[in-house]
Amino acid sequence: MRSGARLFLLFFSCFLLLAATPDTPGNDQPLNGYSAASSRSQRDWETRFRAVPEPQKLRDYMQRLSARPHHVGSPYDKDNAEWMLTKFKEWGLDANIETFDVLFPTPKARMVELVEPTKFTAKLQEPALPVDPTSNQPSEQLPTYNAYSIDGEVTAPLVYVNYGIPEDYEKLERMGVSAKGAIVIARYGNSWRGIKPKVAAEHGALGCLIYSDPADDGYVQGNVFPGGAWRPRDGVQRGSVADMPLYPGDPLTPGVGATKDARRLELKDAKTITRIPVLPISYADAQPLLAALTGEVVPEGWRGSLPQTYHLGPGAAKVHLKVQSNWDIKPVYDVIVKIPGAINPDEWIVRGNHHDAWVNGAEDPVSGTVVLMEEARAFATLLKQGWRPKRTIIYCVWDGEEPGLLGSTEWGEAHADELRRNTVAYINSDGNGRGFLSMGGSHTLEKFINGVAHDIEDPEKKIPVWKRDQLKAIADAKTPEDRKEVRERSDLRIDALGSGSDWTVFLDHLGIASLDLSYGAEDGGGVYHSIYDDFYWYTHFSDTDFSYGRALSQTAGTAVIRLANADLLPYDFSGLADSIHHYLDELQKLLQTKQDEVTERNKEIEEGVFTAIADPKKTSVPPPAEEVPPHLNFAPLQNASDTLTHSAERYQKALEKVSHNGELAVGPAVLQALNEKLMRSERQLVSPEGLPGRPWFQHLIYAPGAYTGYGVKTIPGVREAIEQKKWKEADEQIVRVAKALQDEAALVDSAAHDLEESK
Ligand SMILES: [Zn+2]
Repeated sequence: MRSGARLFLLFFSCFLLLAATPDTPGNDQPLNGYSAASSRSQRDWETRFRAVPEPQKLRDYMQRLSARPHHVGSPYDKDNAEWMLTKFKEWGLDANIETFDVLFPTPKARMVELVEPTKFTAKLQEPALPVDPTSNQPSEQLPTYNAYSIDGEVTAPLVYVNYGIPEDYEKLERMGVSAKGAIVIARYGNSWRGIKPKVAAEHGALGCLIYSDPADDGYVQGNVFPGGAWRPRDGVQRGSVADMPLYPGDPLTPGVGATKDARRLELKDAKTITRIPVLPISYADAQPLLAALTGEVVPEGWRGSLPQTYHLGPGAAKVHLKVQSNWDIKPVYDVIVKIPGAINPDEWIVRGNHHDAWVNGAEDPVSGTVVLMEEARAFATLLKQGWRPKRTIIYCVWDGEEPGLLGSTEWGEAHADELRRNTVAYINSDGNGRGFLSMGGSHTLEKFINGVAHDIEDPEKKIPVWKRDQLKAIADAKTPEDRKEVRERSDLRIDALGSGSDWTVFLDHLGIASLDLSYGAEDGGGVYHSIYDDFYWYTHFSDTDFSYGRALSQTAGTAVIRLANADLLPYDFSGLADSIHHYLDELQKLLQTKQDEVTERNKEIEEGVFTAIADPKKTSVPPPAEEVPPHLNFAPLQNASDTLTHSAERYQKALEKVSHNGELAVGPAVLQALNEKLMRSERQLVSPEGLPGRPWFQHLIYAPGAYTGYGVKTIPGVREAIEQKKWKEADEQIVRVAKALQDEAALVDSAAHDLEESK
């Protein structure tokens, strides 16, 4: 019966295929890394692959996965993992669940109250909405909180700190306001949330509140839910505040997999837990607190959109804050699917999206989880049609992403050696919406992913998603030079990756070339990490017909299958060399700007500008005179960057020579050796000692900023040393990065040499 059903399926899907084939008519240009013949067969399988994903299935999976709250440790989190496992097995795939045991705090006590000059107790609760059925599951919902806030209870004057980033505190000091001994209230935005309590504690604050201001996340952006997509007055953004730029994953097991018998730190020694208590609140709860603030009126750029004057404090307003958690160890369930490679089983393409959510999480992450499931089903379908990948494909549905990239980090740490040895690339997604394709990742894969984007059709505009991205980049270009570049450069630049999702362990810790993909920018969004991110919201305000879900399945799946079968791994080094040049320019400009700024400010201090213009009725502290930043020796980095550019050109030429007549004129043994070499190319860019002060982060080109969180810092060792005025360290880091780039250039040169000799 089973095989009969399978035959029918096969016939049926072939029929569908005929109807859907004119996908890339006449595109017989061989794919990068393929010969003319292998490219034709590959394109045929890719077309079959892209015909499989169905919007209706995406919708059905989403309804099932987001039906109940499914955070780490909840019954439905486990239930979802088991349901997906069953699905994968039903489709004939080899799947299993890998479990880790991680520290996951959940709230025991939460309290925010204004105690002086008037009384007000914050609700700290998101009400259910009659129109939205799954918003009414209070017994299973995690309360609004920030995971990994330390326990604490304080009563202190309130101070408003804008976004709570380092520059905001500098400005506060100039206005004569100190956060020392205060509870600070910061608005969400402009940095990752975990940076806010970290910087607050560094400035002596005793507690931290983070609220969503309607200017950034609420009625100023659009109609609020349930009438529109944006955050309603009681909506709260939950989220982790662990110091992930130090290291992500389980706070108790840095650098090793959190297996049953792993060596664990004691809670008090876990460095990623905040130093002060912190809670997130809604703008309904924030308003009375902000209204009670006195003191100076805040500077112009600091004003939100609540109907009141914003003051800095401190003054009469005193707040009582209490946070207590259950510090339990909870299991995370990673669902892992393996499709063994027929020819090179030890070369892996890894693809992932998480499945855990803060509450129901229809958008974050389920809109991406279902996309990944449809890709897996499409591969299962191809396998039944007789297809086999050359390399091994591993599909991963991560648990515990939300609290701290737990599932992916622990898996990556537990399998570090084999992943370093075998992995070609990691491809991530984390939710999906409607609009333009966003491509981020390693620049060695820039050309490759641009190639994929040429072959995917935008479901609404019926033009390649690449073309649509290019035209948008032309419209958005800020200068004529930028516009010219977008028109003339063969590839669109891809964004460098910071942190904020599951690629982090692969790229930043293990040095595996990574990509992150999603569609978006045409869907409003104000339900992030609230109880309203659910099926009702998604099917009314985001990718309501799941056509962009289908497009993401096609995009990520095409990337996977193209990497899995390439004769020659399609890394490209000219995109990397070009990006390095770009970053180096930025670093030199950054230093120059700092020098100019300090020189100018010192001059103004001497001229008496600050004292003369200060309003004597307001507090104003003139900035201190500073030493002008010294010149740094960028020469090693400039030389290394030039060397890499030359090596990349040489490799490109050698490649064109061997593939000029549509044949890859390279024997299989040479190809095999070459691929093994190329797989190590991203690994040259990491250093086992890691970045200064945070050894877990080993990539020398990309890292999340220590003070931006999700935001990327490129060439982070040098850039952050300049930003933090550590001049000696900056010079040392320049030498270190230059060495890594010289190693990379040597590897690319040797690959070029292999190609040149192969004829
Ligand atoms: Zn997510």
